[in-house]
Amino acid sequence: MFDVIIIGAGPAGASAARILMEEKKVLLLDEYYRIGGRLIGQLYEDNNGEVWNGYEKAETLSDVLHHPNLTIKLSTSVTNIEKPQEYYHINTTSGNFKSKYLLVCAGAQELTPAILGSTLPGVMTVGAAQVLTNVQRVAPGNKGAIIGINVLSSAILSELHMANIEVKVMSLPPHNEVNTNDANPQNVFKKLLNISHMAPSYIIKLGTKLLKTIPQIQPLAFKFIPRKGIKLFNTSVHLKKTVVSINGKEKVESITLKNIDKHGNIISNKEEVIPVDFVCLSGGLTPLSELLGLLNVSFTYIESLGGFIPLHNDAMQTEINNLYIAGNITGIEGAMVAMKQGEIAAYQILERFDKVALTQKELLQERREATIQFHECIEEGRDYISNLWESSRTN
Ligand SMILES: Cc1cc2nc3c(=O)[nH]c(=O)nc-3n(C[C@H](O)[C@H](O)[C@H](O)COP(=O)(O)OP(=O)(O)OC[C@H]3O[C@@H](n4cnc5c(N)ncnc54)[C@H](O)[C@@H]3O)c2cc1C
Repeated sequence: MFDVIIIGAGPAGASAARILMEEKKVLLLDEYYRIGGRLIGQLYEDNNGEVWNGYEKAETLSDVLHHPNLTIKLSTSVTNIEKPQEYYHINTTSGNFKSKYLLVCAGAQELTPAILGSTLPGVMTVGAAQVLTNVQRVAPGNKGAIIGINVLSSAILSELHMANIEVKVMSLPPHNEVNTNDANPQNVFKKLLNISHMAPSYIIKLGTKLLKTIPQIQPLAFKFIPRKGIKLFNTSVHLKKTVVSINGKEKVESITLKNIDKHGNIISNKEEVIPVDFVCLSGGLTPLSELLGLLNVSFTYIESLGGFIPLHNDAMQTEINNLYIAGNITGIEGAMVAMKQGEIAAYQILERFDKVALTQKELLQERREATIQFHECIEEGRDYISNLWESSRTN
């Protein structure tokens, strides 16, 4: 029997465990064989030109997790959660456990665009390419393509470039019933302005800063994007072409591109075939909240937080007694925000309310200074869920 079980040893779960283990008997569970979650694969330069090395940061998180109160079980998947009465019953691939409090920090999952040929060997998500390259140190292939242009795929393009892996093309997925927003060139262009500070060229940085300041000129700027694409880290980034298929007999051999209009509709039958031996798909990230579906948690769809969000308050409490959540499961943001959320949940469980208030302030600062913002209007999304919580309490 434990006081607290934490599901997920990413930045959120590991940060919470560090605080909770001082006073409570804690079980930290993760299905991966290492502590650090998705932080492990991250590698990029932040606003100040400093290299963000997630691998090293994950080691720092892991190094402090030693305490007689703390049990860690890695390579352990949680398969079921029940709360018949007062205690949580957690079924895992390493046995069954009980606790008074449950903190779920399961993170996010990748979405992938629908495209012909996506089941061929050599096709993977951008996140898989990130883990192969930065964690396993295995190149995903010799020359590849990324299908899907967003914050995550752009960050991983720069990581592949740092690892000297050639990415010939980054382009939009085809316009169809599944890929709606992701295949709309103007939408994608607007979202890219949020990460323009990560662009490798000073001119792109300056130009995009101007576009962000004067949004009225964005449609005009879009018109000037050349049909042959923009060069980013030696990759041709296409906002005016779509990949209509991934081709190959037994594995990926090429992709086929066609020209599109500003809404993503194909405007000519002319095809361009580009030889590649791996393809990365990216449709962004969404909270991995399926475990909470096993309990009676309410969800609400908030686009700026990445999808269906479990109802919770600013102290990371859900409507269910002693059930807490933290990190990307509450909305897609970077690792520093996830860590602060984990700390808040831990202090709330320990009823150290002064620390909760202080850490909430630190979280706001982390959010405002974040190098990567996955979505626009994150603060509005957070306010929306807070207001929803307040009204659910008063009803
Ligand atoms: C593929 C991918 C790539 C990303 N790349 C970047 C990036 O480059 N830059 C950036 O700022 N952010 C990136 N992110 C966002 C990233 O998730 C956050 O920065 C941060 O890692 C979130 O922390 P977290 O603790 O909420 O979740 P995570 O770091 O995702 O950790 C969640 C942990 O929960 C475990 N888990 C989930 N379900 C179960 C289960 N049923 N049983 C046991 N364990 C479980 C997972 O194994 C994982 O270790 C990425 C996210 C993903 C999914």
